[in-house]
Amino acid sequence: MWRSNLTERYDAIIVGAGIIGCSIGYQLAKFGWRTINIDKMPTSGQGSTSNSLAIVRTHYSTLEGSALAWEGYHCWNNWRHYLGSNRSNNIARFIKTGALVIQTENNNKLSKQIALSKQLKIPFEEWSSLEIGKHFPLWDLRSYGPPILSDNARFGIPTAETIHGGVFFPKAGYCNDPRLATQNIQRATELAGGKFRFKSEVSKIRKSNNRVLGITLSDGTIIDAPVIVNAAGPYSQILNQLAGIEQSNSITTRVVRHEALYLKLPSSCEHHADSIITYDADIGSYIRPDQDGSVFVGSQGTSFDDYNSVDPDNFEENIGSLGDEPIYRLGQRIPELGIPNRIRGIVGLWDITEDWIPIYDCSDLNGFYLAIGTSGNQFKTAPVVGELMASLILACESGHNHDTEPLEFVLRRTGSSIQLDFFSRNRTVNNSSSFSVLG
Ligand SMILES: Cc1cc2nc3c(=O)[nH]c(=O)nc-3n(C[C@H](O)[C@H](O)[C@H](O)COP(=O)(O)OP(=O)(O)OC[C@H]3O[C@@H](n4cnc5c(N)ncnc54)[C@H](O)[C@@H]3O)c2cc1C
Repeated sequence: MWRSNLTERYDAIIVGAGIIGCSIGYQLAKFGWRTINIDKMPTSGQGSTSNSLAIVRTHYSTLEGSALAWEGYHCWNNWRHYLGSNRSNNIARFIKTGALVIQTENNNKLSKQIALSKQLKIPFEEWSSLEIGKHFPLWDLRSYGPPILSDNARFGIPTAETIHGGVFFPKAGYCNDPRLATQNIQRATELAGGKFRFKSEVSKIRKSNNRVLGITLSDGTIIDAPVIVNAAGPYSQILNQLAGIEQSNSITTRVVRHEALYLKLPSSCEHHADSIITYDADIGSYIRPDQDGSVFVGSQGTSFDDYNSVDPDNFEENIGSLGDEPIYRLGQRIPELGIPNRIRGIVGLWDITEDWIPIYDCSDLNGFYLAIGTSGNQFKTAPVVGELMASLILACESGHNHDTEPLEFVLRRTGSSIQLDFFSRNRTVNNSSSFSVLG
């Protein structure tokens, strides 16, 4: 192939400028690597990141998942520090709310999450239903679970006099603007020397002797690098196909939709808006407060949540026929809620794996790395994932065989460490997972 002397060359190409790709570019650039993030969108954070509810919580079902989220909390809680020399005042805010999770038989009354929190020294409080009632005097604390559809004759009829209680995690909250947060990291990366290229679609991954050479854009532009990172979010599988490795991983990714409804609360309930993030497993709805007396409400942990695979370029972008069900169910808990005439909300895409645990790994193609399958729960961890991937890439490119000798990654803010084969592309499906977005 004819090659111009003007071919751009970098140490690493990161495909994707979502929160994951930007974080990886940032950390590699801080190591002095010449990096470029390439994205087909016009700016950073416009893929699935832009629809994220950006909840930062620590109650995962695995030690590694919780440990990574706990480390992530510390990054969000000190966002300006994470961004280093970015002195802009226009940075995303972390709103601390805490998270309350209702205990049910189905979630084993959170016994696993309580044990993991103790092990990792993550603060939590067990609240009786009486205590919950003190915080939420308008709530109907009878049990309605397990969740059923509103057209079921038993809908709205309590199944027990009271819910068991809940676990409150004070160290939780949400980022008010996930796209701005991503752009903050972009700016920090640029200050560290990293480059970005937008409105550019990677259409080919060039390789030779099982080693990446670079990428070709859909307009024919050639960019070379010995390292390419797949941080393409819901397009991860397509990128793997371009690299010719789609058949070589034991764990695979696929794309599903998730809907979250945006609800203006009646004035009697407005205190919820600046209140606690709630995962109400009894009714199968979660609440994420927003500003101006509004909340996001979504479905979580019901038997009728739809996880059929969709095409990321051709999926239903409107709220579906069961879209208002999480609000009906929430109406059981908050009778004053009222049901809006018009449903508004977001429809986003999750790139999920079989066990809802991401893949952070090298691959069978030398120089091709994977930060994919984020399973609807890796916004919070992204700042740490950048560090984790950078250390993995640096080690592998220095000759370390991560497949035979899995690396350990030290979580320096919280003082624990995790074995990175937990995120391996070739792990067996992890049965400790919740097999849900809770990870
Ligand atoms: C509705 C919703 C709610 C969520 N809520 C939470 C939450 O509360 N807490 C939490 O922790 N996580 C949450 N998540 C998950 C979290 O947002 C994602 O895990 C995270 O944003 C994924 O980031 P990413 O960078 O991997 O993907 P993306 O943001 O999708 O970025 C990938 C980028 O790659 C680009 N790209 C793809 N293919 C190509 C190509 N061939 N050439 C060039 N560019 C390409 C895309 O344009 C895109 O910008 C939620 C997700 C959704 C959708």
